[in-house]
Amino acid sequence: MDLLNFHTHRPAVLGERVVRSLDLCSECGLFDITSSQNELFSVGIHPWSVCQAVDLNASLERLQNLLALPEVCMLGECGLDKCCRTEFDLQLLFFRAQVELAESMGKPVVIHCVRAYDVLLSVRRASTFRQPWIIHGFRGKVALMEQLLRMGFYFSFGPYFQEDTLRVCPEDRFFIETDDFADSLLSVYQHVALVRNMSVETLIELQQERFSFLCLNRQFF
Ligand SMILES: [Zn+2]
Repeated sequence: MDLLNFHTHRPAVLGERVVRSLDLCSECGLFDITSSQNELFSVGIHPWSVCQAVDLNASLERLQNLLALPEVCMLGECGLDKCCRTEFDLQLLFFRAQVELAESMGKPVVIHCVRAYDVLLSVRRASTFRQPWIIHGFRGKVALMEQLLRMGFYFSFGPYFQEDTLRVCPEDRFFIETDDFADSLLSVYQHVALVRNMSVETLIELQQERFSFLCLNRQFF
């Protein structure tokens, strides 16, 4: 039974089904996206890639074309990062434009958020977004998670997370990822299963089910 890697930047290895995240600005020739049994894609403009030189409208048009491909199941990662060099107002402009595009195309959004949860919540609150937004690499505490849960957010947990937070996260609101870390996906599953007090096999099944539900892509498993 293949393990779902919800967010990674690397190609799938044996025994994995991955959602590979590509950055539109740095690595997104159309050629990167090829049909493969083990890979789906998410494409977005990372806040680290945003700068004055990036043409927003031209980028959105490319993004729209990529999101129309059946292999591209989500938009992202995109987001807000108060610890990077990109001017925050510019990040916000690109983020808003991307979540609106995802909404219009019916795609969930993978979110990178660093110290900007107040702004993230206010963007979500200010409109009637219906698409799921998943915060990847979530390391927040229980109180923050609860606030985000109330606004409908989902979470993806990588090799580093707060065990107390994962322990109480609703079963249908989280995913598992390696992102850029060298840790094996199986080791992350084992850690999560231990914290959740369940078997790895059950966890694998639950992840597959949740993902099929989220992305309506039942053929992936
Ligand atoms: Zn990432």
